[in-house]
Amino acid sequence: MRLPVLLAALVAVATCTETFVGHQVLRVLPQSDEELQKVQELQELEHLQLDFWLAPRGLGLPVDIRVPFPSLQAVKAHLEAAGLSYSIMIEDVQALLDEERMEMLRSSRQLPLNTNTFNYEAYHTIDEIYNFMDMLVAENPNLVSKLEIGRSTENRPLYVLKFSTGGTKRPAVWIDTGIHSREWVTQASGVWFAKKIVEDHANNEGVASILETMDIFLEIVTNPDGFAFTQTTNRLWRKTRSKYSGNLCVGVDPNRNWDAGFGEAGASSSSCSETYHGPYANSEPEVKSIVDFVQSHGNIKAFVSIHSYSQLLLYPYGYTYTAVPDQQELHEVSAKAVAALSSLYGTQYKYGSIITTIYRASGGTIDWTYNQGIKYSFTFELRDTGRYGFLLPAKQIVPTAEETWLALKVIMEHARDNLY
Ligand SMILES: [Zn+2]
Repeated sequence: MRLPVLLAALVAVATCTETFVGHQVLRVLPQSDEELQKVQELQELEHLQLDFWLAPRGLGLPVDIRVPFPSLQAVKAHLEAAGLSYSIMIEDVQALLDEERMEMLRSSRQLPLNTNTFNYEAYHTIDEIYNFMDMLVAENPNLVSKLEIGRSTENRPLYVLKFSTGGTKRPAVWIDTGIHSREWVTQASGVWFAKKIVEDHANNEGVASILETMDIFLEIVTNPDGFAFTQTTNRLWRKTRSKYSGNLCVGVDPNRNWDAGFGEAGASSSSCSETYHGPYANSEPEVKSIVDFVQSHGNIKAFVSIHSYSQLLLYPYGYTYTAVPDQQELHEVSAKAVAALSSLYGTQYKYGSIITTIYRASGGTIDWTYNQGIKYSFTFELRDTGRYGFLLPAKQIVPTAEETWLALKVIMEHARDNLY
């Protein structure tokens, strides 16, 4: 298999794609406050250009760091000097990227004629996903429509699929995938969800009964500029692609840009950080468009924002330790949803509030939606727990979508049965 890898490297060079040759993903498990402190120190060392796939969260919780080849020695020395052991989760990031690219080239490239021949077991380009949406709408004009809720910084349309059997401003469920562009299994799952809703409706099973009283809105490519960038230039791009004068770096973390604890602890004010909150709340059109949509709709009852990776189901808050008034109910729904998810392939999820389960994160999506009165606000972190991280092999797309769907169904049914 040397030839395809070589070919991929040539393609990368020819298209100015950023390469990650020799980059490793290291995992550290801090066991004491001192060790945690040592890992946190690494975050301050900007010259090392570390990319925290999983940021330090607490004792015994993994920290995954993508380390560029030139920084490997320094980082390993830092860890060893502090007596911290680490394991190598990914030996060579570029080798995984090459495999993923070859798999993409192998698996499709022939435009499917309809959504039945679409390849759900592959990662797709933004154009292929937009083409999928148009086919789905054309095939199901009485159920599915496509809304454009705004435009991205680079003027790409922000499309939302609406699934509705009628009525006006029915109580609704919102699902978004891909707000962090490198979390490819989420957009791919979003595509699968869209097809699943249509199939359930046609067969009068699954969510068909939910569609009798509620609409479903699904934004699959929530950060299209970032997503396009992951496919042309830098597979590991997370943020938006906005540029602000005076900022050294491009992009804002669209999951720190919402008007809920905006700019407080749990986000960065440095434009070069992966968690940069942006110049002001809702500065990103990808965020502002959803804010405007949610407010003008006024009847969204469940809001689910989907990320990867870590296998978590989370509810608010992320910006404060204050428990939400509905904590007990959200906790119970989470338990049921996670049990349903695990029932298919045994995939284990943890659940809880964002701040107690992962870390303090301010300006997050579901903190804002919850404060808007959307009680059933949840965030998923899909597969895996770090073996592949953001580079989950395409053969796991469908199993991931299938199991996640079972959890989503629990949330949607609970919302329907407990309308408020
Ligand atoms: Zn994310």
